[in-house]
Amino acid sequence: MPTYARRVAPFGTTVFAEINTLASQHQAVNLGQGKPDFDGPSDIIEVVIDALKTGKGNQYPSGLGVAELREGIAHHQEKFYGLSLNPNTQVQVTCGASEGVYASILGVVNEGDEVILLEPFFDTYLPAVLNAGGIPRYVPLYPPTWSFDRDELRAAFNEGTGAIIINSPHNPTGRVFSRGELEFIAELCQEHDVIVISDEVYEHLVYDNHRHIPMATLPNMFERTLTISSAAKTFSFTGWKVGWVTGHETLVTGVWRIHQNITFSINAPAQYGIAHALGYDEAYYQSLHALYDGKRHLLLNALRESGLKADAPQGAFYIMTDFSELFDGNAEDFARFLITEVGVATIPPSTFYCTDHAHIGSKHVRFAFCKNDDVIHKAAERLLTLKKKV
Ligand code: PMP
Repeated sequence: MPTYARRVAPFGTTVFAEINTLASQHQAVNLGQGKPDFDGPSDIIEVVIDALKTGKGNQYPSGLGVAELREGIAHHQEKFYGLSLNPNTQVQVTCGASEGVYASILGVVNEGDEVILLEPFFDTYLPAVLNAGGIPRYVPLYPPTWSFDRDELRAAFNEGTGAIIINSPHNPTGRVFSRGELEFIAELCQEHDVIVISDEVYEHLVYDNHRHIPMATLPNMFERTLTISSAAKTFSFTGWKVGWVTGHETLVTGVWRIHQNITFSINAPAQYGIAHALGYDEAYYQSLHALYDGKRHLLLNALRESGLKADAPQGAFYIMTDFSELFDGNAEDFARFLITEVGVATIPPSTFYCTDHAHIGSKHVRFAFCKNDDVIHKAAERLLTLKKKV
């Protein structure tokens, strides 16, 4: 009987599907998947409806992305980071950051290139590297700070290294790389002529005194960095799948050549909506930050009151939580126990690992706080029963 290609054999269904099924079977409060249970601003929706009704968004748009959106992205990079981009040659709109990551990797990694991944990492990176014929090299991040060991990272670079994939603010740990860490990576990339694929989808979710520094803003890094972002987290429309890649035109050309052969162009109405959103002033970003900072504290207090160990994340909307003082098994066992006995769903981080570095995260689970406050309160009440149940 015909079957799927050998290439896809290793790519099993992710843990997210199992957790979601189990969570709904047990009516658990779902703090697993990183999708908000609220919508972004309604005026963005109005612009999309208008694009549908007027017919502006009903036929194939430019493969690069609609001009208004590319201009909005270029304006955003200038306003926040002082990066001056040509919207016609240095911006590619993609079907979410997911396609942005995939097309970037396929567009710049050569067969046989080594690609450095910092473990744990967002689960779509590895299949893309393998599909590109790249050879993954893994360097772990260590709790509780989730930073890399500089000697280990240096040792991973050699003359065969083609690219490194970084993600800051980081999913699942909430880590925001410091300027010093980014400079260290940048120096190694220049020394070994390596491209950086920088996933910055949580760029506007950074807390306390931490700052998001795009790799492309470091000296001599623009020409060797592809930066990926998305409307999913910044405007709370994960379902629209509007993302983008920016960088030097030579690298963006590689992204375009893959994109034109996967999707060619992405849904037009949502692009007009996000173009409108990128015109928001500072007040929007401040209110987004305040909203998530409040949720971060709410969940953090709930976790600590329930006896779990958690540090405040520096960015994104996840809290990696150490359960080792309360529960003996591994993260999968704890995640199942939390769903079936306590009624709260989380993600065990094994999906973000693919080597035996997995033991480093095996006493943690990831809670997401991109949820309505009453959902977090309900989870908090249930978590208070945890100590009695273990
Ligand atoms: N990168 C990271 C680190 C993410 O967490 C996500 C979404 N969870 C994505 C990329 C994918 O983003 P999008 O929904 O825009 O495809």
